[in-house]
Amino acid sequence: MNPSGILARSKESLQNEFLRAAVRFTQDRLRNKKQAVTSEFGHWEEWRERGRQIREHTVSHLDYYLQQFADKVRQTGGQVYFAVDGDEASRIALEIAKKHRAKRIVKSKSMVSEEVHLNRHLQEAGMEVVETDLGEYIVQLAEELPSHIIIPAIHKNRQQIKDLFTAAGGEHLTTDTKDLTAFARRTMREKFSQADVGITGCNFGIANTGSVVLFTNEGNADMVTNLPPVHIVMMGMERLLPTLADLEVFANLLPRSATGQSVITYMSMITGPRQVQERDGAKELHVIIVDNGRSRQLGDAHFQEILHCIRCGACLNVCPVYRQIGGHSYGSVYPGPIGAVLTPLLHPGPEYADLPYASSLCGACWEACPVKIPLHHMLVSLRARSVAAGYNPPVEKLIFKAYGAIFARPGRYRFAFSVARFGQQPLVHDGTISARLGPLTGWTAHRDAPSLAEVPFRQRWQTLQQELGHPPADPADDKATNSASKDARGAQQNSDVRMQKQQGDVGHE
Ligand code: SF4
Repeated sequence: MNPSGILARSKESLQNEFLRAAVRFTQDRLRNKKQAVTSEFGHWEEWRERGRQIREHTVSHLDYYLQQFADKVRQTGGQVYFAVDGDEASRIALEIAKKHRAKRIVKSKSMVSEEVHLNRHLQEAGMEVVETDLGEYIVQLAEELPSHIIIPAIHKNRQQIKDLFTAAGGEHLTTDTKDLTAFARRTMREKFSQADVGITGCNFGIANTGSVVLFTNEGNADMVTNLPPVHIVMMGMERLLPTLADLEVFANLLPRSATGQSVITYMSMITGPRQVQERDGAKELHVIIVDNGRSRQLGDAHFQEILHCIRCGACLNVCPVYRQIGGHSYGSVYPGPIGAVLTPLLHPGPEYADLPYASSLCGACWEACPVKIPLHHMLVSLRARSVAAGYNPPVEKLIFKAYGAIFARPGRYRFAFSVARFGQQPLVHDGTISARLGPLTGWTAHRDAPSLAEVPFRQRWQTLQQELGHPPADPADDKATNSASKDARGAQQNSDVRMQKQQGDVGHE
């Protein structure tokens, strides 16, 4: 496991009260809005199922649809490139920009470009790169990663934004939202009008038309794709839909799941570069299709479904772990449950092997997901993969071996717990253990651990049986548990009442 991994980063986030309040506020707001718009829409489960089926079909036939999409883009005058990894994707974009002697590049929101560190590559070549999505612009000025897929600057307050804008623009601003957005608008207009290249992501590529579909709420993608003479699209290889009819399903699923909107504010569809008879659009269209670890998931029974993701962020908005630690703790451009699965899949190895442990496995992400990706199952499979690869500390293996050995034999179990019951005595106060417990300190530092009951459950059970007039089970006999269980089933109704009376005045084992 990575010693400077999510645990270390989470400790920092847990101290940040503003971040935690902002995440809670945003989660609640988006979740409530989603609940309202999906109820009003009706038949939400059927829409989800339809979405799942379309994504399953597309990803299962990805080779076919990729070829069809690439052919259509070329037929409509665009150019297509396939990039095996992030470096190749950035290199292709850089070469296109260099060919046009680009000095200034404007971008609309693109998670893939973040994933491949495109900005860094372009900036190192001396180009100015400006993010034009407001949240992304704030994060860029702060030199940070986005902390939410849909709301990248969720962790910033108005004072911090004001300071960033003031430093960037050299003019005095107030913390008034109107003042801040007016500054961003003024700045962006100038950048748009002077840009040599525009770069966007791609929410969906339509295979049978070669169209690139972009969803935004700020309209900045329209400026990015129309004002500069060159438009570069960077898209993950899985972002395809077979037809425009399929887009209808996702035009309903995506905004409702992402921001609780019944319809997205701007949906732009770009099919080829500007034609002679057209008045807008870039003169050149370049589409870079990025693999970067995605094709490794194809055919994998556990993980292929991760390619169904439409990056709506709904799983973040329900995750109890993300709620506490925010996005930066994940150390990846993809935070939350989707990040805990996708990041180690795209970057196998020890660096992100701890991310799948940042989950309670409650399954809320799966319930929220508009295309029903079983993220909680994938998290478990990734944990197994991490153990098999030897990324977990050796002591963890020993602990689980000891745990297995003790729980495999009732005699060992009884002996171990009688020793533990005796050993815990100096640590117990008011029925709980609040002392720091070596490797378990992470647990006891923030909450009390219940102490072991003074009288174990098995013994209480036997006493109860005797009180009920049933023959006592022989504690030395391993078969006693089964026999007691059989007797218990017979006396279930009576014992339930008596057990409830006894609970509450003893600890738990
Ligand atoms: S995993 Fe599902 S809920 Fe999460 S971002 Fe992807 S599509 Fe949305």
